[in-house]
Amino acid sequence: MALIVQKYGGTSMGTPERILNVAQRVKRWHEHGHQVVVVVSAMSGETNRLLGLAKAITDTPDPRELDQMISTGEQVTIALLAMSLKSIGVNAKSCTGGQVGIKTDTSYTKARIQSIDDGSMRRDLDAGQVLIVAGFQGVDPHGNVTTLGRGGSDTTGVALAAALKADECQIYTDVDGVYTTDPRVAPKAKKLDRVTFEEMLEMASLGSKVLQIRSVEFAGKYQVPLRVLSSFDNPNDGAFDQQFKTTVGTLITTEAGTDMEQPIISGIAFNRDEAKLIVRGVPDQPGIASRILSPIGNANIEVDMIVQNVAADGTTDFTFTVNRSEMKKALGLLQQIGQEIGAREVTGDDTIVKVSIVGVGMRSHAGVASQMFTTLASEGINIQMISTSEIKISVVVDEKYLELAVRALHTSFDLDRSSGESRAQA
Ligand code: ADP
Ligand code: ASP
Ligand code: MG
Repeated sequence: MALIVQKYGGTSMGTPERILNVAQRVKRWHEHGHQVVVVVSAMSGETNRLLGLAKAITDTPDPRELDQMISTGEQVTIALLAMSLKSIGVNAKSCTGGQVGIKTDTSYTKARIQSIDDGSMRRDLDAGQVLIVAGFQGVDPHGNVTTLGRGGSDTTGVALAAALKADECQIYTDVDGVYTTDPRVAPKAKKLDRVTFEEMLEMASLGSKVLQIRSVEFAGKYQVPLRVLSSFDNPNDGAFDQQFKTTVGTLITTEAGTDMEQPIISGIAFNRDEAKLIVRGVPDQPGIASRILSPIGNANIEVDMIVQNVAADGTTDFTFTVNRSEMKKALGLLQQIGQEIGAREVTGDDTIVKVSIVGVGMRSHAGVASQMFTTLASEGINIQMISTSEIKISVVVDEKYLELAVRALHTSFDLDRSSGESRAQA
């Protein structure tokens, strides 16, 4: 008998039929003697709909009230799934984050889980109940409802699995695993049987939305066995095994694969949510970077890539990227700083994307960066910014080249192989 945490995303919970299908799968696991905790997302589109309602009231909604509202999508789906399970004879109970003791800090809309009280969950599981828990939410020390950031149900799933020392946390979604890149952008993307936590963390933080970054951090920190798999596969197929050892989907693991022919690059990630800000003609003096970036940091705007080039006339151009939704705010601040430091021009560009290649194999192979740049050049794609770390290389390019860049890199780094084996499903 195993203790399994299963998380079902928005598409998997998107219609009553799909919820009934999820119930069938949960029933099979439960019938075979496993203890099951199910974490669910709101129906797909629901959280966006709720955010839209708030925006129709005010551009700057109060964060506490926003969380109070956007957490309700998950409250609907927990009850619908519990009803579905009861209607097919399974003893199930729905709970909000607060009801299962998920305590967070008070950072509304991006709260961090501080503790989980596993006592009541264990009692319910020992009594033979399936527990259905609302993802994406918790309560702060004062009892206020908080949410964990977009895509946060993944983190709820992993956090519950860590607290309960579950045998596996299964993330059921609308693709059948983690692919070499988003299969919606590159049809030749190949499903990975295994990927290391380190690589998955890079891919998630560089834009692969298949798992929320924090869920991967959490799983790595607490050694939670984590698997990504499809909720659309037949619940009676290989996803289920009486010994509990599932072999489908993608396992996120601490060890690199043993395949001798493993490619140097494991995956390609991209992020459409970035914008670039340029401060041109700044005097090239000590302290300038700090003068430019301090007000940005003080305004809580996260800076990603930074490039500075010095011109022959002794001035410098300073370029950096921020989240697209914060470009206007950053530009406003920069215009003021620009005047103070005597910059020639301040501009913003929100028609860029960041494309990254990721792989632990990079550590032991030279020439990966030059291969990346040559591939992009041969497609006529201009690189605007570059940043590297031990296991990734990122470039900023014009957004119109996104698909071309991803597909060309996918082929160049030999990731197209055996693409016929698995397919994305939605
Ligand atoms: P859910 O609603 O189940 O949480 P998400 O939309 O958050 O699902 O995540 C699944 C989606 O992630 C897929 O439909 C796919 O388009 C996208 N995706 C991005 N990068 C990858 C990748 N490397 N492998 C698989 N899916 C990816
Ligand atoms: N419903 C939330 C969102 O859309 C959380 C989640 O789906 O994981 O971001
Ligand atoms: Mg998701």
